[in-house]
Parts: sequence; C-alpha cells; structure tokens
Amino acid sequence: MADQQRVHRCLAAGCRATIPVQLFMCRNDWKRLPLGLRSELRSAYRRRNEDWAAYAAARETAKQAVARTPRPV
Ligand SMILES: [Zn+2]
Repeated sequence: MADQQRVHRCLAAGCRATIPVQLFMCRNDWKRLPLGLRSELRSAYRRRNEDWAAYAAARETAKQAVARTPRPV
C-alpha cells in the first residue's frame, strides 16, 4: 500500500522515530510510559478541544516520565 500516512516525531525527548500521527510515541517509548499515564494522556487527547492546556500538561508529564525511565539495552 502506497498511501501517504501522516507522520510526526515521537514525543519522547531525543527520540528520532517517525510515527503515525494517531500515536504519541514509538512503540519502545510507549512501553516505558506507566499505564496510568498512558490512559491520562489518551483521555486528555480526546478532550484537547475543550481543554488544550490539560492536554499540553499531560504530554509534558508523559515526556518527563519517559525521560526518567532508563532506556532498555
Ligand atoms: Zn520514541
């Protein structure tokens, strides 16, 4: 399939993976994000039109949580 999928950079700091826009992070970084933060980020994303600030905060929290989690070797 040659359809052009919209992609963006993984949310994790320093990660250069390019992923479909419907995902927040590449698979590796997403796995490092605690489950609670994953669902927080998802629900904030769904409400982003009503509350963009909450979504931005959830993104930042997720980014920092991943940055604190050591990268698997
Ligand atoms: Zn990544």
